[in-house]
Amino acid sequence: MTKAETFDYHQIAASVRIPQNAFIDGAFVPAKSGATFENLNPATAMPLGPVASCDAADVDAAVKSARRAFNDGAWSRAAPEHRKGVLLKLAELVRANADELATLESLDSGKTISDCLNEIGNEVPAFFQWYAELIDKSFGKVAPTDESALAVIVKEPIGVAGVVLPWNFPLLMAAWKAAPALACGCSVVIKPAEQTPLTALRLAELAMAAGLPAGVLNVVPGFGETAGQAIGRHSDIDVVSFTGSTEVGAYFLRYSSESNLKPVGLEMGGKSPFIVLEDAVIDDDLISNAVSAACWNGGQNCSANMRQLVHETVKDEFLAKVVEKVRALKVGDPLDQATEMGSMITAEHRERVLGYVESGRQEGAKLVLGGSKHPDFSGFYVEPTVFDAVTPEMRIAREEIFGPVLGVLTFSDPEDALKIAADTEYGLHATVFTKDIDRALHLAKRLPCGTVSVNKFTEGDVKTPFGGYRRSGSLARDNGTEAMDQYLQTKTIWINITA
Ligand code: NAD
Repeated sequence: MTKAETFDYHQIAASVRIPQNAFIDGAFVPAKSGATFENLNPATAMPLGPVASCDAADVDAAVKSARRAFNDGAWSRAAPEHRKGVLLKLAELVRANADELATLESLDSGKTISDCLNEIGNEVPAFFQWYAELIDKSFGKVAPTDESALAVIVKEPIGVAGVVLPWNFPLLMAAWKAAPALACGCSVVIKPAEQTPLTALRLAELAMAAGLPAGVLNVVPGFGETAGQAIGRHSDIDVVSFTGSTEVGAYFLRYSSESNLKPVGLEMGGKSPFIVLEDAVIDDDLISNAVSAACWNGGQNCSANMRQLVHETVKDEFLAKVVEKVRALKVGDPLDQATEMGSMITAEHRERVLGYVESGRQEGAKLVLGGSKHPDFSGFYVEPTVFDAVTPEMRIAREEIFGPVLGVLTFSDPEDALKIAADTEYGLHATVFTKDIDRALHLAKRLPCGTVSVNKFTEGDVKTPFGGYRRSGSLARDNGTEAMDQYLQTKTIWINITA
């Protein structure tokens, strides 16, 4: 239960303890080199305090601790009921500390406190709870044989999992990966994004309090080139699960091929379409979904539906209502519960988003709303932005912007909408709005992406696998029972029966 809607989260922000050190072998420790980096609050551009800047030596210490914990079996070979109890306790502790964690997350990322409270008060505990509940309900298989044999197929934890995370949903992404990995019995080394290290560090501390043995969950804050690369190249890490950009995902395949050939699960970028067919009712529900599809989390969302493909007969009505809704978005102080959009993550990222706005202008898209730095704030704010007359070859229609930019394209034939939607190197997500279930199903089956959402913008929930086709992902999936496949390996035990 989080605090009432009228609560002022500045009170927690004023006194919250800001984690500064890495979490290795059950304790907070500085980087071996003593190096730190300055962690900024993107909404104010003010420092939040130094954080340990881990490099290969710290990653190695974390992996040694994770390996020792894995080999001693206190977690990896513990009774399923025990592991389930610990992860249920962790879910409870996250829920009980959701106000503190959400405040830390908001300070660290510029995300709105209301989104942080939802992600951390509801979704993160749901992940630990759901995977905890699966632990004592997952069975192996017995293969068909003649009576001279019994062939048993069992799943075993793969070992030490390296987890490398992005900054847009810091604790939620940590839970997406750590919950199934821990449920499978793995030890885990997390590298949070350098922009948002705080909540993963606090999670590791809570996991110890829940009863996780030392070394089973380690967190090494640091930069990609140093700590991230060291995870990718470490020969005693058995699997890497990565979420981030497609460019960096490709590095992890190289690191693997140049080290121990560890499997690499990749969840990467997207350029997802939001398709509005001729028969869709352009009501408040559809418009709210359209705006949230493009602008939720300031558009810093891998499945952001920035490309909004709207049938020409309903385009004018759609555009007018979308503009009205985007104009009304309350941009502001992330700690204010009424705020609907916070800041971009860094000054550089804000400039990147504004660069895309400029390219849209230059390539002939019509800027209808926004398009500038937000004039009212000292942090890294961008105005929510709407473009009309976007065409498929423009950069803003092809490249991931990762900012609050909604672009409207038009079509006359739904088959053209399908062609435009599919004409991308990515394949993460798509939304379709129509009253015609046959058309919806036709599009859902033909769209080349990992999730299609009909008459609602959603990524699904803990129960449903999430991941991308093409350059949005590998075959690995987060969420659902599928996520556990990343952290398990399969063993056959063939028993000869001689009697
Ligand atoms: P990023 O790729 O820049 O960074 C992700 C992580 O990789 C960070 O921890 C970073 O430190 C690390 N990293 C960076 N360079 C590295 C290197 N050379 N070697 C090893 N590690 C390195 O991504 P980001 O900017 O943090 O996040 C935004 C991206 O994440 C977007 O492309 C977005 O679409 C994607 N994303 C995807 C999903 C999904 O589930 N598909 C979810 C959220 C975000």
